[in-house]
Amino acid sequence: MDDDPIPLSALQHAVYCLRQAALIHVERLWEENRFTAEGRVLHAAVDRQGQRYSRGVRRVSALPLSCRRLQLAGVADLVEYHKSEAGEIPYPVEYKRGKPKLHRADEAQLCGQALCLEEMTGLSIPEGALFYEQTRRRVVVRFDMELRTLTERVARELRETILSGVTPPAIYEKRKCDPCSLIELCRPRIAGRSAKAWRDREIDKLLSEAQGG
Ligand code: SF4
Repeated sequence: MDDDPIPLSALQHAVYCLRQAALIHVERLWEENRFTAEGRVLHAAVDRQGQRYSRGVRRVSALPLSCRRLQLAGVADLVEYHKSEAGEIPYPVEYKRGKPKLHRADEAQLCGQALCLEEMTGLSIPEGALFYEQTRRRVVVRFDMELRTLTERVARELRETILSGVTPPAIYEKRKCDPCSLIELCRPRIAGRSAKAWRDREIDKLLSEAQGG
């Protein structure tokens, strides 16, 4: 396992919730809901490997990617090659269901692709785009230092979590947990309560021991 690469797609889960990523990639749990089913169908439509030209831009779909430094691997939905004075600069485009989110999970997954492409080509990749099915629009993503730092930190945390085989405890947050596809398997309210009850019991035990009880 030490040398197995982490799937690029796991980055988005880990940015959203490290426990979610561990449930999927350590415990191999997956609960399909309408959102995940739509995402799967969307990717099936764009995951056909091939190259074509559109308005003078070379576009390669389903391109395999990897990054040895971060031990990441996966497949890019689409990489465009934009012409510049330095030659063709890769421009990753990831297809997503729904609309732009308030969190940075989608951006980090795209940035992970850019880090792979940079290592594979030796080129600096300044930006890419997320295409959202619901809005039918591209959102340009700049791979600035903040996003790169987030992506690399999460990639390392995820790797450590997968290698440890230990799933982080649940912490219920309404905004994050209610739309989570794993909420029924994770049960964050119960897990949170049992974690608190366990901690309270341990404290009571220690106090009782300290008082000679
Ligand atoms: S329900 Fe909440 S804590 Fe559990 S995996 Fe989903 S987001 Fe994470």
